[in-house]
Amino acid sequence: MVDIAVTRAATPKALPEADKLGFGQYFTDHMFEMGYQTGKGWHNPRIVPYDEFSLYPAAMVLHYGQAIFEGMKAFRTDAGEITVFRPLDYLNRFNRSADILCIPNTDVDVVHAGLNKLLEIDKRWVPDKVGTALYIRPFIFATDPYVGVKSSDAYKLFIILSPVGAYYAAGFNPVGIKVEDKYVRAVPGGIGEAKTPGNYAASLRAQVEAKKEGYAQVLWLDGIERKYVEEVGTMNIFFKIKGELVTPALNGSILGGITRRTVLELAKDWGVKATERQISIDEVFEAHAKGELEEVFGSGTAAVISPVGELSWKGQKLVINGNKTGPFSQKLFDYVTGLQYGKVADKFGWVEKVAKV
Ligand SMILES: *Cc1c(COP(=O)(O)O)cnc(C)c1O
Repeated sequence: MVDIAVTRAATPKALPEADKLGFGQYFTDHMFEMGYQTGKGWHNPRIVPYDEFSLYPAAMVLHYGQAIFEGMKAFRTDAGEITVFRPLDYLNRFNRSADILCIPNTDVDVVHAGLNKLLEIDKRWVPDKVGTALYIRPFIFATDPYVGVKSSDAYKLFIILSPVGAYYAAGFNPVGIKVEDKYVRAVPGGIGEAKTPGNYAASLRAQVEAKKEGYAQVLWLDGIERKYVEEVGTMNIFFKIKGELVTPALNGSILGGITRRTVLELAKDWGVKATERQISIDEVFEAHAKGELEEVFGSGTAAVISPVGELSWKGQKLVINGNKTGPFSQKLFDYVTGLQYGKVADKFGWVEKVAKV
């Protein structure tokens, strides 16, 4: 048993209105916290009221960005259970990101126990409308007050929770994507395969320009030849070509999504050929010209599946499946959300029940 001290919030907050949740605007009454110090290791796991915290202006994270995070979700099922989807996969990836950023690994059992205790305490915050969820954000950052470049000797880990509205409040509709040929997100040998704030900071300029041009997101090409497809926005990407599912292989610059893994495992289970390999943007356009490009979609925790209806690249525009959600995208979305909301039997052991309401 992991011993986690709990300090309750003196005055629990009023819950936000169910139809005004949006994404990441509201936070629950409590948070999980743990500290690290060289020589002492990770220590003092505890649950405290959600509140501001203090940092020295010299705290290393503010200067050199040594930080990582995760993003997963808890759901409320019709049977009145609170469930989390593949929590250990996310927490193990947290440690892989930690390795890349020279942050000391956490004990997954401790963080898992802390998360579950936090969810038990704040379970009234898990919204119950279809499509809504409680977003779980674990993060670690360097706190050493030192303005020299090195890896920090002190860190803080927090887990905060945020009730979020349905991603597809306006319907499960495809989006228009700009193939980015000017900016790049990451290169092999860099930190692209870690979930770290710097990758997001590096993606903002392209995103802002794409939005101005009327696109929802950018499709990233590789940073060396600007030829091979990598990711779409902050999601992994899949192409369905002549019945076969193709997704870029994890080459060191691509984030290994848990939803990506789920899609690959489901395709295998359903007898759909799925291949992880390099795929060039030329190949995507050629497949479309031959009438063989059936579907394109992004995969990520927030959206689960995000159908792509249009791709624009150097003045050419390609419309996929008549700009409609394809049957395979729909089937994946329905199946994964069915598992998450307890409507589909969990034969893979992906759903952890953490509390009863
Ligand atoms: C989190 C993330 C994804 C999606 O990963 P999931 O585990 O499926 O949510 C894809 N790309 C980037 C850059 C990410 O940060």
